[in-house]
Amino acid sequence: MLILVINCGSSSAKYQLFDISRRKLLAKGAIERIGSPVCQNHYIAIERIVKTLGSAAIAGIGHRVVHGQEEFKESALITPKVLRSLEKSSELAPLHNPPSIAGIKACADLLKEIPQVAVFDTSFHHTLPPRAFLYGLPYGLYAKYRIRRYGFHGTSHRFVANKAAGCLKRPLKRLKLITCHLGNGCSMTAVMGGKSIDTSMGFTPLEGLVMGTRSGDIDAAAVLYLMKKERLSINKMNDLLNKRSGLLGISGLSNDMRDLRRAASKGDRRARLAIDIFVYRIKKYIGAYHAAMAGLDAVIFTAGIGENHPWLVKRIERGMGAVVGKKVKFLVIPTNEELLIAEDTYKIINKETSNQ
Ligand code: ADP
Repeated sequence: MLILVINCGSSSAKYQLFDISRRKLLAKGAIERIGSPVCQNHYIAIERIVKTLGSAAIAGIGHRVVHGQEEFKESALITPKVLRSLEKSSELAPLHNPPSIAGIKACADLLKEIPQVAVFDTSFHHTLPPRAFLYGLPYGLYAKYRIRRYGFHGTSHRFVANKAAGCLKRPLKRLKLITCHLGNGCSMTAVMGGKSIDTSMGFTPLEGLVMGTRSGDIDAAAVLYLMKKERLSINKMNDLLNKRSGLLGISGLSNDMRDLRRAASKGDRRARLAIDIFVYRIKKYIGAYHAAMAGLDAVIFTAGIGENHPWLVKRIERGMGAVVGKKVKFLVIPTNEELLIAEDTYKIINKETSNQ
């Protein structure tokens, strides 16, 4: 049975085609530069993907959707009601959800009969207790605007947590794990008994770790001060925090860990500083989540940085044994969000067909 996975971002549409019964990837690709003369919009991008796949007998389409609000606690079959709800969610995720919605609508138009499923980055974190998801703001603002920690990268954290149980040969229900998704965007999650109980990204993906171009945790008063001093508009400040900060901002060189490592080894002080801050923040979160779970079995590293920079994992691990205990394992596990999206899609459309 063939499942197509679509991941629509603001300027790209990536796809992977799986033969799900064999867990086999059959085809993958991406349409880049959406919004330019090369490809005007997401509809055209999806049209090209459909054309590339030709006559493949697709049984279901799974879409990565960044924000599922409080409503979507798990992956969902896309119905007109679900689509309306997603459109409402665009207010909470103005950059992330509209491209997914455009992709879903294009598929509905071009591949009419094929059921579609939305898999959310946020849903794995729906198990966060209020003490972990609420900010120290007046409660009425949460009630009015739903300002809270949502957490992201959920599909990746869920995928590697499941794999970790296999590697450790222990049931997930009995494990206390910290999963570190270190890509361009970076986040960490405390996974207790298979459930996310705390995570570093917040209301948006800006909070938490120092990332490629995002600042991560920062005193909100520093943001206000900067806006005043530099006369920055909301958009400009948003741009500074999300696109010009983090590893790039500190090093003044690059957001790519490969470049930073090279420069640091040649003695570039700011590249070294960027790596130091990156590592230090991760260590702090390991300590915090160890305390939150009152125990720890393993720390898992994944995504571009987590999977390809063993020297960095070693640096994070160094000295941690004395803090978290010598038995705690530090593991690298490659993530595969697309496969999990395909599996969720398969499960949901199968349930639907057997219910009919
Ligand atoms: P995204 O979050 O955009 O999917 P990635 O998960 O690929 O990005 O993470 C990007 C980071 O991972 C960069 O800092 C880069 O240095 C690193 N990275 C990705 N692939 C490799 C690789 N093959 N070798 C070394 N570093 C890599």
